[in-house]
Amino acid sequence: MKCFNTSTSDETIKLGEKIGKVLKEGDVVLLDGDLSAGKTTITKGIGLALGVKKIINSPTFTIVKTYSGDINLYHLDLYRLDGLNNDFDLEEYIEADGVTVIEWPHQVDELIPSEYLEIKLFKLDNDERRIEVRGIGKKYIEKEDLL
Ligand code: ADP
Ligand code: MG
Repeated sequence: MKCFNTSTSDETIKLGEKIGKVLKEGDVVLLDGDLSAGKTTITKGIGLALGVKKIINSPTFTIVKTYSGDINLYHLDLYRLDGLNNDFDLEEYIEADGVTVIEWPHQVDELIPSEYLEIKLFKLDNDERRIEVRGIGKKYIEKEDLL
């Protein structure tokens, strides 16, 4: 596990960029943290590294927002998803031609892939955040090592 502290949202975006640089098509990133912990903010940085030009905002009213870039970004927010809704198939949203970033992934625990990069964000005082990055599975452990 790699641990980072940021004291501004810009620093969190910068960390997102650093993480984004080690991501490739087909990769999955799970973002875990309370409301306003910085999940969408770190996704903005990941998008920058992938060459996304559009501004990344919370996909509040849709489950997924697609951004084209040098590598496409699929930004999912499962906050409003009912965990018991069996119709939702996460696999359908994990595209081979882009990076999939998922906020509130534990709404669908039973559908989460076996390997992914996990980012846990914790709110400390004011603008301080502790951000833990952990690779699950060989491919993602190698990415974690590059950070
Ligand atoms: P989430 O997607 O986890 O709900 P957001 O990224 O949408 O969170 O919101 C984070 C909020 O906290 C933003 O308003 C951002 O400006 C603010 N903020 C303050 N300090 C930080 C920091 N160090 N890292 C990330 N966001 C921060
Ligand atoms: Mg968000």
